[in-house]
Amino acid sequence: MSHSSTSRIQEFIGDPVSDESPVGREQLEEIFQDIQSDMRYDHELNGCLNCGICTATCPAAHYYDFSPREIVQLLWTENLEGIYDAMQEKIWSCAQCYTCAARCPFGNSPGGLVMLMRETAIKHGMESAKSVLRPFSRVMLKLISTGNQLSPDMINPEHFADWGPNISKVDAPLELLRKAIPMPTLHTTKTAWEVNLKTSVELYTIWEETGVLDSLETIDENLFDVICDIMDEKRDDYEDWLDEQDED
Ligand code: SF4
Ligand code: SF4
Repeated sequence: MSHSSTSRIQEFIGDPVSDESPVGREQLEEIFQDIQSDMRYDHELNGCLNCGICTATCPAAHYYDFSPREIVQLLWTENLEGIYDAMQEKIWSCAQCYTCAARCPFGNSPGGLVMLMRETAIKHGMESAKSVLRPFSRVMLKLISTGNQLSPDMINPEHFADWGPNISKVDAPLELLRKAIPMPTLHTTKTAWEVNLKTSVELYTIWEETGVLDSLETIDENLFDVICDIMDEKRDDYEDWLDEQDED
């Protein structure tokens, strides 16, 4: 069944948006359009038998009020209000393990569709996206400003004091973890976070050109300001370094 035929069915069965929807029809359509227009959409959604195999194999469905089958059905039937509702909480339960994609007889990727919905929730500055991502500010700061975040020597109580008293019970085999990371230079925070100036400037250009910074500004303006300051400083340092090279 094609998307246009589902639209025709929708026209026949009536408008799925109730009068009690918290946002207007126009915004619901815009949200769906943003999800559907992504180039990955047609690859991730090919049809749906409503068989439930994805939900039966989904680890998140065992623990949360979440069903990949339901997510796929909402998208396949273009249930705009249901899609909006799912974006307020349910989509954040997915662990992105893609077991569903490996099992679906239609070759769908419910986990991939959830990712598109999450990206759209961020783009629209939904409260659900802000509250889910808030605890990850420190991760985002390091990731965006240095290009990497975790190194094996971070796994100790000092680095994760804000994770509460249970972190002191972590007794990770650091030597083993270090061997699992192929580049020896990434084994400690000192070396992992010491990024070459030129690489930093290139990285910041990528964040800008791909819209990552726009997304960040939408969900966390303070963090966006901090990262912009870091970027400006690094760019100034790089310009100074280039000037010095010219003088030499
Ligand atoms: S997405 Fe695939 S596995 Fe899940 S209900 Fe639809 S057809 Fe079945
Ligand atoms: S990717 Fe998400 S929806 Fe798919 S099986 Fe994993 S947790 Fe479930």
